[in-house]
Amino acid sequence: MSKGSILLVGAGLSGAVIARALAEAGYLATVIDARPHVGGNCHTERDADTGVLVHVYGPHIFHTDDVQVWDYVNRFARFHPYRNRVKTTARGAVWSLPVNLHTINQFYGTTMRPDEARAFIADQADTTITEPRNFEEQALSMIGRDLYEAFFKGYTEKQWGCSPTELPASILKRLPLRFSYDDNYFFHRFQGMPEEGYTPMIAAILDHANIDVHLDTPFTPAMAARHDHLFWSGPLDGYFDYALGRLGYRTLDFERFTAMGDWQGCAVMNYGDADVPWTRITEHKFFAPWESHEGSVCYREYSRACDPGDIPYYPIRLVEEKALLAEYEALARGTEGVSFVGRLGTYRYLDMDVTIREAMDMATGFLSARG
Ligand code: UDP
Repeated sequence: MSKGSILLVGAGLSGAVIARALAEAGYLATVIDARPHVGGNCHTERDADTGVLVHVYGPHIFHTDDVQVWDYVNRFARFHPYRNRVKTTARGAVWSLPVNLHTINQFYGTTMRPDEARAFIADQADTTITEPRNFEEQALSMIGRDLYEAFFKGYTEKQWGCSPTELPASILKRLPLRFSYDDNYFFHRFQGMPEEGYTPMIAAILDHANIDVHLDTPFTPAMAARHDHLFWSGPLDGYFDYALGRLGYRTLDFERFTAMGDWQGCAVMNYGDADVPWTRITEHKFFAPWESHEGSVCYREYSRACDPGDIPYYPIRLVEEKALLAEYEALARGTEGVSFVGRLGTYRYLDMDVTIREAMDMATGFLSARG
């Protein structure tokens, strides 16, 4: 006999991981998603013409330090080793990211060794900023004005649609600064790509006798009444019908184009100049380097304010928006029978591994509270 019936809104990572844990514990889990596929914004799809595996909602590279999370995803997909190596085009040249010894030497026309570069950058950095209050202060205190203006200012203005002085410092803390030639974009021990993409992996997580998945199915409040508990991975403000106003999200527009051969020669090319309207171009065949394809599928990526009806991608979390967020968080805490999960449900800039970790913990907490 089932222990209860649970509704999960959203068939992305959060919904799938929680549904699986509850299903394995004997609950009946109904997962609904308004879109025609599982996987949320991690959705991948093979392009019919070229055979290239396309990251339909932009690039997703799996990386983590969390052994349990790494074991978890490996249960549901075969992972291939992958190193995210990002380049950026700025001021008429191509540079290595994240900012590393190569970038620094190339940028300043020097041949510094690690200690010399460390001392040099410390000299460039603004030492009057001891507690960076926003993205710009974080950058100035870390790498100084020259590198900030070349690689971060323009890109960030395009990506977030506001001044970097209005953004939290945490966004820049995502990126390393290296005094070596290591150009791995991430610090994490485990990094890889699922062989057939994220959608089959998430479908495998959802593949359990106690899980029912309904696609093309928008949420209606009447559905909640038929279940014992609701896990909501849609936008936090959306659950409350935007009653207190809208939290800011960025959405992305992708200009898709195809080519023969290799178009740019790498998976991700950022564009740091403010006068280039796109933020980056992704060439999807390079996300699956173990495959080979004659044709190529590329996305030119543009970021803009998310209007009603657009797909939200990035919670902006403007420094000045904190009060509204706190009000929604208080509403969420006071809403019985509903748990808010994931990037949209908690309005935080979460990576996939953290999303999975939080979903696992959320399910464990739920199960132990129910005895
Ligand atoms: N960023 C930047 N220039 C770059 C790459 C990143 O200014 O070439 C900033 C930008 O504000 C971005 C943030 O660093 O939003 C985090 O970058 P990341 O590559 O992690 O962004 P994501 O891939 O999640 O969009």
